[in-house]
Amino acid sequence: MERRIIHVDMDAFYAAVEQRDNSELLGQPVIIGGKPQSRGVVSTASYEARKFGIRSAMPLIEAYRLCPQGIFILPDHSKYRRVSDEIMQIFQHYTPLVEPISLDEAFLDVSGCQRLFGDSLHIAQEIKDQIKSQLDLTASFGIAANKFLAKIASDLDKPDGLVVINRENIAEKIWPLAVQKLWGIGSKSAAKLVELNIKTIGQLAKSNPDLLAKTLGSWGLEVYNLSNGIDERPVIPERDAHSIGHETTFSQDIRDQEYLTRVLLELAQDVGWRLRRAGLRGKTVALKIRYPDFKTITRSHTLSAELNQDDVIYQEAVKLFIANHAAQKSIRLIGITVSGLIREEQVSQQFSLFTEKEDKSKKLYQALDKINIKFGRKTITRARLLKDDETK
Ligand SMILES: [Mg+2]
Repeated sequence: MERRIIHVDMDAFYAAVEQRDNSELLGQPVIIGGKPQSRGVVSTASYEARKFGIRSAMPLIEAYRLCPQGIFILPDHSKYRRVSDEIMQIFQHYTPLVEPISLDEAFLDVSGCQRLFGDSLHIAQEIKDQIKSQLDLTASFGIAANKFLAKIASDLDKPDGLVVINRENIAEKIWPLAVQKLWGIGSKSAAKLVELNIKTIGQLAKSNPDLLAKTLGSWGLEVYNLSNGIDERPVIPERDAHSIGHETTFSQDIRDQEYLTRVLLELAQDVGWRLRRAGLRGKTVALKIRYPDFKTITRSHTLSAELNQDDVIYQEAVKLFIANHAAQKSIRLIGITVSGLIREEQVSQQFSLFTEKEDKSKKLYQALDKINIKFGRKTITRARLLKDDETK
């Protein structure tokens, strides 16, 4: 039986949530990231802001230059995590095979549940309707036989799209796209491909795989298969994951240490939240840094016990950052991954190993997560919005 994979990607997620919660922001160029003159980058721009050329990962100063009338808002990550949880719960109703890739994006394998809920198109349409009616948000959907095609498909008709890719339309829909649309093809690999006269995915699909392997190494064969619509990677639900990580790519290289540590805090909170949500703890914290020349380093530290608290993950990441990164260097990408995962149940079985202090901290996090899921921080958010409106 052919697999049916759905890729769901929320439209301008952070900006859409803020617009939903404050009707004064509807139809406005909303820029989530921080105050216009501050350091740092755009997290998300509303579609109105994108008309001014504003994109994610663009420096806020540049965004302000392009759109001084924009409404600049500080991100409220705990709110976005809460909404993300509501979205993931809708997915879980249809299939246990949900693999989140970030707060606003996930793969769903619905191959086994079509008898229960109808075909994949029907399931996607139902999920789309539920996201709209329950959460008042829109998402774009891609449906295909594998992850690669589903992910490309969800991007073809944004926002509020729903695109199906199958054997019959792969040549028409996928092949005209630039090779950069392929996962992992950066400007460096793209330049090498241009030398071989390969600019589109279609040209890649019809190229010589041996030549590709020579030019790009083992990666060459992989992209050759992808371009021909072949991708066997399974959808791995969070509970079965070997690691959970988050990373941020900047559109311009960042040197500001204070800002970078703030990004690390957000990443640590995202990773901690996902671990606790999936009922997991991890023993190894890894920091990934990519420099402007694409040199990438990964440094990790293994703890004496499995943990999932934000502050522990953050402290470990900052230690690795200080120990391994020369302060004067700029950074292109930064990420945190926690691995060596075990399930929470396994921890409680060997509970005697844990001190009373850790038990307290676990209870505190459970309480905090519960509050965030149930009530969020709407009042705080509103105050923040008002404050930001004054400075716009
Ligand atoms: Mg999105």
